[in-house]
Amino acid sequence: MTKKIAILPGDGIGPEITEQAARVLGALGLDIEMSTAPVGGAAYDQHGHPLPPSTLKLAQESDAILFGAVGDWKYDNLERALRPEQAILGLRKALGLFANFRPAILYPQLANASSLKPEIVSGLDILIVRELTGDIYFGQPRGVREVADGPFKGERQGFDTMHYAESEVRRIAHVAFQAAAKRKGRLCSVDKANVLETSQFWRDIMIDVANEYPNVELSHMYVDNAAMQLVRAPKAFDVIVTGNLFGDILSDEAAMLTGSIGMLPSASLNDRNQGMYEPSHGSAPDIAGQGIANPLANILSVSMMLRYSFAETAAADAIEQAVSQVLDQGLRTGDIMAEGCRQVGTAEMGDAVVAALKNL
Ligand code: NAD
Repeated sequence: MTKKIAILPGDGIGPEITEQAARVLGALGLDIEMSTAPVGGAAYDQHGHPLPPSTLKLAQESDAILFGAVGDWKYDNLERALRPEQAILGLRKALGLFANFRPAILYPQLANASSLKPEIVSGLDILIVRELTGDIYFGQPRGVREVADGPFKGERQGFDTMHYAESEVRRIAHVAFQAAAKRKGRLCSVDKANVLETSQFWRDIMIDVANEYPNVELSHMYVDNAAMQLVRAPKAFDVIVTGNLFGDILSDEAAMLTGSIGMLPSASLNDRNQGMYEPSHGSAPDIAGQGIANPLANILSVSMMLRYSFAETAAADAIEQAVSQVLDQGLRTGDIMAEGCRQVGTAEMGDAVVAALKNL
């Protein structure tokens, strides 16, 4: 059956990188249909909203979304609901994208790009599974109130609410155990169970779900320790599963271990394996329109799409191999440029991946 893919290029470098990612997708000879729609600031300019109904409808009717990036400083003064980033939250909510996969992979060819010693990070391949639709980011009540009693009585107080329902923890646990089962079989659940009730509850559910996955080894780590271990011995991890707040921070930390945000894809999936695939970086307005952005994170997002939404493992592997070959050839965009390599632009990098795919 024809797979429907919505291409949402967005702002800044978004259109430049999705163009290359769509070319790679098109070069695989799969039965797919791609349709493009504006999102973020581009959609606000055209339709007065960062996620107009026509774009949302296209996304809902698609099997997967290839997303570029959104945001630009020129929209910073808009009211919050109309800012480009709201499109991402709107898509997550409308499609129920609760499972965020953020791999941190350091290709050996790029080991020197990390600020950590090459021996600590070379060959790094970890996956962070972050719960994306719950936790303190969405918990109610929240706001600013007047303190009724105690030492701060009469003062204004900002507050948020952290909570996780059992079904929310169970479904992300299953996703993470299944991902670990397909990798090295080690899952580390990160929480703050020594302080937070929500975390203790999270841990109890993880332990319960583990009974269904005897081949996966479950361990637990407090988030402060995880933050340290990620820079001390990151290769000790295989899959990390954690809540929305901790995952937000740890996945960015893990991304920086690789030193090259332009290389890292991400996936956000719902319970029907419908997914949104995007690079981990933003819209990079500082280099937009110059043809120099690294398209590889978006190209690798296509590989994740094929793997997670379509179970097209061979095609997903082929993209990863093609990217690795292009790096072996010494081609680099500016962000990953190193001595002895040849600097190329966005389109030339896309050309090279397409050519490598055809020669596999
Ligand atoms: P950013 O990730 O856009 O850029 C950070 C730095 O990395 C910049 O110097 C940029 O030039 C560089 N960079 C990023 N991607 C690159 C690539 N593919 N190739 C080469 N260099 C690359 O983060 P920022 O500057 O903090 O944010 C810029 C805008 O992006 C803001 O409006 C922000 O809100 C938005 N943003 C969007 C997303 C998203 O769409 N998912 C995520 C983060 C930030």
